[in-house]
Amino acid sequence: MSEKKIFVTRPLLPELKDMESQLEEIWTSKQLTNMGPKHDELEHRLKETLKVQNLSLFNNGTIALLVAIKAMKLPYKSEVITTPFTFAATPHCIQWNGLKPVFCDIEPNTMTIDPNKIEALITPNTSAILGVHVYGFPCKVDEIDKIAKKHNLKVIYDAAHAFSTEINGIGIGNFGDITMFSFHATKLYNTIEGGALTYNNPELVRKIYNLRNFGIRNEELVEEVGINGKMNELQASVGLLNLEIYKKEQEKRKIIKEFYDKNLSSIKGVRIPKMPVNTTNSYQYYPIVIEDDYKVSRDELHLIFKEHNIITRKYFYPACSDYECYKHELSTKLADLSTVNDIKNRVLCLPYYGSLEDNTINEIVEVVQNAK
Ligand SMILES: *Cc1c(COP(=O)(O)O)cnc(C)c1O
Repeated sequence: MSEKKIFVTRPLLPELKDMESQLEEIWTSKQLTNMGPKHDELEHRLKETLKVQNLSLFNNGTIALLVAIKAMKLPYKSEVITTPFTFAATPHCIQWNGLKPVFCDIEPNTMTIDPNKIEALITPNTSAILGVHVYGFPCKVDEIDKIAKKHNLKVIYDAAHAFSTEINGIGIGNFGDITMFSFHATKLYNTIEGGALTYNNPELVRKIYNLRNFGIRNEELVEEVGINGKMNELQASVGLLNLEIYKKEQEKRKIIKEFYDKNLSSIKGVRIPKMPVNTTNSYQYYPIVIEDDYKVSRDELHLIFKEHNIITRKYFYPACSDYECYKHELSTKLADLSTVNDIKNRVLCLPYYGSLEDNTINEIVEVVQNAK
């Protein structure tokens, strides 16, 4: 058993001495926030990294998603079709915009929203589809796009798990009308707290600038009802330093993934979801799915790990459709959520970060091999 507790993830942290010189620059400039030089440099650098045309930084991913939905100007109380297999922020941002989340089932391999089940949920009140590239697996963007065009719906993506994911060499932030990234400490690439929106429509640049900054254009002009979504200079400096090291972290995780894949895929009843072809992995999470013919249940395996001082996570259990605030909705009760309701009881995310030691990785594999 591990002496120390093994967590499911550890934050990517730059060298302290590098951070000190960043702090010295900030202290000298005395510009702490409000679109300072580090903020602007990070926006520029991330646009290149994510291969997108427009990018706006935010103080966190949730505010970014709130603003993304706001910028789509969807009719009040209209319905947004989304996945319940996600973090709480996704449906909450819909609800906070005065809209109604309508939950759609997921497809079993990528666990993203199932395009085959979207159309049955469309009503005259539907205004948008909000997909989540869960664990960094891309949604079926082409099929979603087709449905959206046919029914005149906006498409919003939550790419909190999909930093640097690409489909056929195209950055994941180019699909749909607008995409949100989260740079929270638990995400592969982080700015402690932080986030971004990416979008191709140049008309959104001004709109999003306004919404992020109280609607203030200049000293005397307040153009609309904005919020405070600004990323500060300390966050941006962590972001600049982490841009230098995130690829190395991905390479380490790639090696761990290969080891897990090789040793776990041969175990009866353990399914490893696969990235679709022509997509690159973000290496954000390592989920496994426990099938009926495995020796114990997912919950039992989770407990066995705990006895070994190893923390695994039942991401995403409960599903958002199980939350007290959503489960009583008629649309939730009526929806066919059979795949979500199956997967949520089977999925387990294993510890996954570059500094995991070899003996711990071995132990994790042995726990899955020897569980009974
Ligand atoms: C982390 C996360 C968010 C929220 O991002 P924050 O930066 O923590 O506000 C939204 N959606 C998903 C799927 C996430 O994992």
